[in-house]
Amino acid sequence: MKKSKQLFQDAKKIIPSGINSPVRYFEPYPFFVKKSKGSLIWDEDGNKYIDFCNGYGALLLGHRRKEIISAVSKQLKIGTLYCAPTELEVELAKLIQKNFPSMKKIRLVNTGSEATMTAIRLARGFTKKKKIVKFEGCYHGAHDSVLVKAGSGAAHAGISTSEGGLSEVSKNTLVVQYNNSDDLENTIRKNKDIAAVIVEPVLANMGLILPEQNFLHEMRKITKEHDIPLIFDETVTGFRVSEGGAQMYYQIKPDITTLGKALGNGFAIAAVGGREDIMNKLSPQGKVYQASTFAGNPISVCSAISSIKTINKLKNSLYSKLEKNCRLLVNIIDEIATDLKIPHHINFLGSMFQIFFTNTPVVDYKTSKKADSKKFKKMFSTLLQHGVFIAPSQFETVFLSDAHTNQDLANTIDAYRYALKSVKK
Ligand SMILES: *Cc1c(COP(=O)(O)O)cnc(C)c1O
Repeated sequence: MKKSKQLFQDAKKIIPSGINSPVRYFEPYPFFVKKSKGSLIWDEDGNKYIDFCNGYGALLLGHRRKEIISAVSKQLKIGTLYCAPTELEVELAKLIQKNFPSMKKIRLVNTGSEATMTAIRLARGFTKKKKIVKFEGCYHGAHDSVLVKAGSGAAHAGISTSEGGLSEVSKNTLVVQYNNSDDLENTIRKNKDIAAVIVEPVLANMGLILPEQNFLHEMRKITKEHDIPLIFDETVTGFRVSEGGAQMYYQIKPDITTLGKALGNGFAIAAVGGREDIMNKLSPQGKVYQASTFAGNPISVCSAISSIKTINKLKNSLYSKLEKNCRLLVNIIDEIATDLKIPHHINFLGSMFQIFFTNTPVVDYKTSKKADSKKFKKMFSTLLQHGVFIAPSQFETVFLSDAHTNQDLANTIDAYRYALKSVKK
């Protein structure tokens, strides 16, 4: 028997569904990972995959990037957790601010969920208002306020609004359509009690969905007019869309920003930052409570410092290379699907793309849900058989990393050719 199959059977007995985060499950069983390096992952049965899941976007610079491993290894020798401040944390905050000038003050946390939870509590504490506005299909982590009409694994599992979440909490979350500024404006006009608008500036958790022209600018204008803090959840887009995230790419200044994933390139670290008057509400100076044992631990902080320094050193060559590679994949996959006469749409930005099997352009939750996810599943399995690993869900995004080689891209194109043929059948 395959070792992954055996391990999955064991895992199911002791870990709910056998996995530690829902999207990791796929039929008939997920492969169990032995190791990774650069653009590659090896499983316990000796199979090798070109990785385009890339830690759901976290591994912008690839697996075990040498600069990062070397920085972290040095720190391992002198300490892993102090729960007292370090010079490293100040250095990291300055580096983040240099890339994200809107983040005037910054707190470090461990995960994107913690960052958005803190951002929302801060906005509520600052405005003394209750409600938040989120967009249908946006994913902001696995807590009650935002697990309402959420994308990502929740949409994949068909539980966009989770059981066990308190309706007393979720009734304070107003959901509006992505790419629909009229819907946003109407909702804001009708409700006086809004503490924040939270958005993924590029929606990477319903497949990939791009903001239409002016959508983000309109959002900024409306929220400013009504004096409502705007939270950009850049957990995916931070350091991926550009070194200054989507806010730099689209030239928009949010009031609060959350970062995660690519910030630590494979280590658990996230950040929340923004306007000084808002951030000063955090305790002990202010009365909005936020705390964490592992926040600012020197291992994660070293990984983030090294990631940002590497990104800043590579500068535009990194982003232009990623975009060139992504465009190449997208163009050829589009060509193959067109030749096979498979109805499809591909959305693409920088180092991210996703294909949807549908006739209609995918611009929001509804149009993404319309795509044929059975075909997607078939494509996913065939890709895997041919050594290409993408996230196992239509509602996730394909992520390129700096580690993908030209040979990887050529092999990936071959795999997509087989995969799309299998979809056609
Ligand atoms: C992944 C993600 C989160 C949650 O981050 P975790 O580290 O998984 O808690 C929040 N927001 C967005 C946009 C994400 O993609």
